[in-house]
Amino acid sequence: MATIAIHGGAGTILRSAMNTEQEQAYRDALSDILKAAQKMLADGGSALDAVTKAVSMLEDCPLFNAGKGAVYNSAGTHELDAAIMDGATLAAGAVASVAHLRNPILAARAVMEHSEHILLVGAGAENFAADNGVAVVDAAYFHTEARHAQWLRARKQDGMMLLDHDATSEAAEIAPIDPDNKFGTVGAVALDVHGNLAAATSTGGITNKRVGRVGDTPLIGAGCYANNRTAAISATGTGEAFMRTVAAYDISARMEYAGCSLHDAAEQVVMTLLPRYNGRGGLIAIDAQGNVAFPFNTEGMYRGVARVGSSVVTAIYQSDSL
Ligand code: ASP
Repeated sequence: MATIAIHGGAGTILRSAMNTEQEQAYRDALSDILKAAQKMLADGGSALDAVTKAVSMLEDCPLFNAGKGAVYNSAGTHELDAAIMDGATLAAGAVASVAHLRNPILAARAVMEHSEHILLVGAGAENFAADNGVAVVDAAYFHTEARHAQWLRARKQDGMMLLDHDATSEAAEIAPIDPDNKFGTVGAVALDVHGNLAAATSTGGITNKRVGRVGDTPLIGAGCYANNRTAAISATGTGEAFMRTVAAYDISARMEYAGCSLHDAAEQVVMTLLPRYNGRGGLIAIDAQGNVAFPFNTEGMYRGVARVGSSVVTAIYQSDSL
């Protein structure tokens, strides 16, 4: 059955630290995005179009660390990464370290569809995307007060790297997550009525990251992967650990070579493999039968799923069931 699942980052998201309005804002945003993608799938749209739509909406929402609302790097600017993959053909596209593209996921899709390459970075990626109709914005577009305050705090804490949303009063509108355990990135996976899978992932990376640092998100197989034979996967967390374990592809490989179920493969990677390398975070995954998995080894992960014909379900904490 055609299905879309999305995530908006994982971390120490505690019910006790979140007020009702904050929680509702996240749930509403997740729900609106799921409904839009669900409608596309219900109308016979492709998994690729559904994940592109969902991730571009997540990028436009300032609550999440991607597009508008992305975190600051050590130079006080933004460097954004994104990737997309088509499970039917293994076609893929990605961009890294872009600073002037409103929706990096649209640039990734343009790379996939209109170039002979997979990954373009920096100015070359921006020029290519602009030539292919992707909206260019001034760097100031990505500014949000909350993320700026978060960056200033990170600098004060002697350059400690902070992931995603922060929890102090200076940034009250951003959801509470412990500063040492914060992850953010957005992503979507989908199965369409034709039986095709797709995955898309987009991020601002890590607060106060070194200029030029690229994480797992735009690396096919690390933070994003899709293959009709196995699954579509989108990850969020400590990028370096997801790169070292080639986490998204590892789920696919366990399914293809070891005959694991989606659920078992995803659990093994997130709960056993990643922690060996201090990997914290989670991922969403869907297989060709429409099974979905949302494992995370943190206190919470913004997430949700919408099956065509069923109501949308969103979740934040570990105790929330999907
Ligand atoms: N995985 C992302 C990165 O390392 C960050 C995150 O998901 O919070 O760039």
